[in-house]
Amino acid sequence: MDRKQISHRNENPYLRHSRADRLFASGLKPDLEQSLSPRGMCERPLDFIAGEQLCDRELWAKFVEQYRLKSDTAKQEWRSEYWGKMMRGAAFVYSVTQDEALYAVLEETARDLLTVQDADGAFTTYEPEVQFRKWDLWGRKYILLGLLCFHSICRDGALKEEVLTAARRHADAVLERVGNEEGKLPIEQTINVDQGQMVHGAMNSLSILEPMVLLYRATGEKRYLDFAAYLVETGARGCGNIFELAYADRLAPYQYPYTKAYEMISCFEGLLEYALTVGSEKWKTAVIRFAYRLMESDITLLGSAGTTHEFLDHASVHQVDAGDGGVGQETCVSVTWMKFCARMLLLTGDPLFGDCFEQTLYNAYLGALNYDHVCRPECIQAGFRIPGLETVPSFLPFDSYTPLLGGTRGQGIGGSLLFSDGTYYGCCAAIGAVGIGIAPHLAVLRAKDGFSVQLYEQGVYKTKTPAGNAVTFSIETDYPVGDAVRIRVELQGEERFALSLRIPSWSVENRLAVNGRPLAVTPGVTVIRRQWQTGDVIELGLDMRLEALRPTPFERDVLRSRIIWRTCDMVPFLMEETPEHMEHVAFRRGPLILARDARLQKGEEPVPALCRVTVFPDGERPLTLIDCASAGRTWQEDSAFSIWMRTKTQ
Ligand SMILES: [Zn+2]
Repeated sequence: MDRKQISHRNENPYLRHSRADRLFASGLKPDLEQSLSPRGMCERPLDFIAGEQLCDRELWAKFVEQYRLKSDTAKQEWRSEYWGKMMRGAAFVYSVTQDEALYAVLEETARDLLTVQDADGAFTTYEPEVQFRKWDLWGRKYILLGLLCFHSICRDGALKEEVLTAARRHADAVLERVGNEEGKLPIEQTINVDQGQMVHGAMNSLSILEPMVLLYRATGEKRYLDFAAYLVETGARGCGNIFELAYADRLAPYQYPYTKAYEMISCFEGLLEYALTVGSEKWKTAVIRFAYRLMESDITLLGSAGTTHEFLDHASVHQVDAGDGGVGQETCVSVTWMKFCARMLLLTGDPLFGDCFEQTLYNAYLGALNYDHVCRPECIQAGFRIPGLETVPSFLPFDSYTPLLGGTRGQGIGGSLLFSDGTYYGCCAAIGAVGIGIAPHLAVLRAKDGFSVQLYEQGVYKTKTPAGNAVTFSIETDYPVGDAVRIRVELQGEERFALSLRIPSWSVENRLAVNGRPLAVTPGVTVIRRQWQTGDVIELGLDMRLEALRPTPFERDVLRSRIIWRTCDMVPFLMEETPEHMEHVAFRRGPLILARDARLQKGEEPVPALCRVTVFPDGERPLTLIDCASAGRTWQEDSAFSIWMRTKTQ
């Protein structure tokens, strides 16, 4: 592992205790045969999302209908993304729960979708005269991902074949029109708006890279890999060669020519699949360098990024300075970062990616869940309303943006678009399920010579040992509130294998024992190698001391770019540190970032929270803080909340 790129990590306050000499896990792999029963922090979100979103037949039918109606024709929008995005999340959730009722709904909507494929093979919400413009290819990317995800869980042989054929024909319709051969549209021209400007450097179109590689893997048909090679080697020039920029490793992602956070990370998800498929060390290195740079320069305390609207902006440093275009930290960004971290954890074995995954899960992600069914139709911007159509309040299971500095939840509905019945949906609601569909898989991963526990999710995990014996790991804990994790082993016979544990970088002092006998803890990952048998118990104690976090000084002025929406140009500007910058503090307890909430200051009824801490900022008056995911739950001013607090009164 090239450690050069992690030299800047202290720009990110959450990772301040991370150590260059930490141990990495090796040979991490998801355990596809494992039976998972998560009963900790993941349980309620899984039930909520499966029950209230993924099993909603009417919602699926509405998404499919958009293809029939070609409803994005008039304004070239992105209703096309909803079905594929939600199907991907649904397939991930199904991979955890194996719930028959959910499977039945997914099979039904997959069959329904197959009825809206056009004669040329495309699934598109655009009429032919506007196809391959603006968000058309982006939507086609998600349909392809959704089809491939359903294909991976489909149990009906005939349907499985039909789905793959549909995916192939759908991709062929893209290959027919897009590419560098004469008469075809280069990828960067698939995004042009009327005046000829590009939106986000066409990164949205470029991100079709990931499903093209996955389709190649599913079919073995070389034309998809050739198209992927075209995107990587030529297509990326349109957005300023972001892949080469990552490989060169001189700039942070927020310094690239285009900085739309979610689209950019999506392109690198594709580059990783491409690199692994063709065995390219260069592109694998580029993805790893990109991931570390992003972790250092842009991930906020909540584990999201893009505090200036939805654009990367060096937020690890300037997250205490008010953004200049909305509250940012889009849920699409949080979820895509979680998925990317999970992928990077497997690839590199670096436990820092496990740290980052849980940081986002427990802070940005759980905080975005709309358990109370708050509806804010007034958030739909005027430009997205349809004249003469009344907006009908619609339930979205995920909020889109999270403030860091005194604000409310529910300030906007990312990517919200209306349907013909006046209801609406949004990008973040459609993508959300992916996050919770990944988390339980990270609890017990396969690793070199055994297993690695990377997420301390209470629950029961059943699988087979390297020698093929049945084994059950029961994780008993109230982490991330409590500091103690017990792992019980039940094993058929006795067997020697390795079991490693992720030691979070913030956990400086730790205790570890097996059957009561203390063991040394190493930073990063601690490996326990022994002859295991039923009844063995591992006890891990983590460092839950409250820590005050200060902002990172600028050190130098920050050159950033900002979008001019009228022309979609990115223009650079210099950001200087203000005197107020360093006058902020935030609090971390374990992986939980704490917040003040207006309800606590009023001292009325008890505020439900996972974790509650009282601090004395001026040495006298108490200030009660709660975990930030529990803060702001009313989505109104009465629960306005803040992660960063001013240390001087203005
Ligand atoms: Zn979104």
